[in-house]
Amino acid sequence: MKNFFKIIFLVFIFSLNSCSSKDDVAKIFFFDVNQGDSSFIDYKNTTILIDTGDSKFVNKVISTLKDQNVKSIDYVILSHDHEDHVSGFLDVYNNFKIKNLILPDALKDETFNKIEQVVNNSNTSIHYIKDPTNLKLSNNFNLKFLSKLEDNPENINNTSLVFSLSMYNFDILYTGDIEEDGQLSLLNQNIKSEILKVPHHGAFNNDKNNVEKFLNKVSPLISVISSGDNSYGHPNKNTLNILESLDSKILRTDKMGTIYMQCNFDKDTLTISSIL
Ligand SMILES: [Zn+2]
Repeated sequence: MKNFFKIIFLVFIFSLNSCSSKDDVAKIFFFDVNQGDSSFIDYKNTTILIDTGDSKFVNKVISTLKDQNVKSIDYVILSHDHEDHVSGFLDVYNNFKIKNLILPDALKDETFNKIEQVVNNSNTSIHYIKDPTNLKLSNNFNLKFLSKLEDNPENINNTSLVFSLSMYNFDILYTGDIEEDGQLSLLNQNIKSEILKVPHHGAFNNDKNNVEKFLNKVSPLISVISSGDNSYGHPNKNTLNILESLDSKILRTDKMGTIYMQCNFDKDTLTISSIL
């Protein structure tokens, strides 16, 4: 399959129709958790939550998942130990049955320690990822971890798990908050993706040439920036300019609220809507 996707933008939809189960459909959410990250995928009866956002904003994640009738989550992946990505985890844990928790095997801070204390000895299995690893979730649905994490990184952002979720040849690249070193370390891999969760809320602390190299290598059709109130200037104008020069459609949670995508592989359509 499938080099060309017809993309339909439907903006400001307030309720979501569920699809009949015979359709080959992936549901993808990028939640508006203010300044933070949280995303959810439901495809082929497998559910994956990537980061939870800060505990201050996690109720949006929980209520949207409950509206979707989610009762259990197969995989929760926490990218790295910063509060804007993971401090909502224990609220999620208290509301849903979580089968597997995936963490980076890297530098830990307070939140991961707290999470491990609660989750250890429960029915949730904890898995640690340090090296590139492939996980086949079902036919034509793969989770591929790309990171090779250093033992003593200078910057916890660069311990973010980077991974690709592939449905057929349709790839979503999740990058946590990786900065320059993390981005450069991926250049020798096949990271071309239809959708990019833009690293680090669209920050730009790096050498412009290196950012261009990374974004050019990904060449995303769609770039999702998860950001909100912040004093860092995220997303940075330079990042936006580079993405625009690549003709990538930029979707921002600070402008659109929660972003919902429905990818129908039978019809080759990707429908994008916004849930305020
Ligand atoms: Zn962050």
